[in-house]
Amino acid sequence: MIGFQTERYAFFYKSKANLHTIEYTTPQAYLIDKDRFSCYDIAYMSSGIINALLDIIYPKTCLACKRNLKGIAAVDNLVCRECWGKIKRNLPPFCYSCGRHLENSYLAKHICGRCVKIPLRFDRAFSPCVYEGVTKDLIHEFKYKGKDYLGHALSRLMIDFIKEYDLPIEYMDAVVPVPLHKTRLREREFNQAEILSEHIAREFGKEVLGGNLIRHRPTRTQTELETEERFLNVSGSFSLKDSRAVRGKNILLVDDVLTTAATSSEAASVLKNSGAQIVYVLTLAN
Ligand SMILES: [Zn+2]
Ligand SMILES: [Zn+2]
Repeated sequence: MIGFQTERYAFFYKSKANLHTIEYTTPQAYLIDKDRFSCYDIAYMSSGIINALLDIIYPKTCLACKRNLKGIAAVDNLVCRECWGKIKRNLPPFCYSCGRHLENSYLAKHICGRCVKIPLRFDRAFSPCVYEGVTKDLIHEFKYKGKDYLGHALSRLMIDFIKEYDLPIEYMDAVVPVPLHKTRLREREFNQAEILSEHIAREFGKEVLGGNLIRHRPTRTQTELETEERFLNVSGSFSLKDSRAVRGKNILLVDDVLTTAATSSEAASVLKNSGAQIVYVLTLAN
């Protein structure tokens, strides 16, 4: 069965299956698993008509600036090139701990002022983008507006960063997504960190170790809290189902955003306490 890579079709399929398991590589049709989408055969058969109708009802717009994408170059047919070009990249030198751009005054120590104050439990963190402007808007669309199909384009930024800065991905044994609590996962229907992890792992031929690290306690939304409260809020919220799976391993822990780093630091401490050797954190933005 043939499916279609458009936001409108994602709208059709959303409740049926997680679209993030599908690789979107071209703006053309792609092959999908017939069994999983069988009740949408009608959408396929009437695709021409439906496509034309949807173009009128739901004109495809850039997920950042919302302008109509008809005839405009766009990344994955989702974000116009102009907005994509506005994504602010993190530039070296990077803090040896949190991965933010390091100001001159901290250069000698290799660690930024925040990380001097609160030491983090992972070995190093990296982020290709600065969490502001277009990046912030796109992460919001990805995470809170159900646009899981943005994961392909966003993960490319992380993959390109790994390649550009030659991160030691060859020494990583597994990619671990930062988990959501089951209640939040039910609300959101997908874990954005898992989607990013799957794309990254596939690119570098790594294993995704999902479902082992769990968030057994729901936590308050971190955005409402001050730095110290954030660390307290997530303290003791993670655990591992099977610690043997990470013992002696080098782990790449993946999430969408690193702000205070409280969440990834806490998750890393659980992995390390269970015997993980190196824990690097890779987030899309910081
Ligand atoms: Zn745009
Ligand atoms: Zn830092």
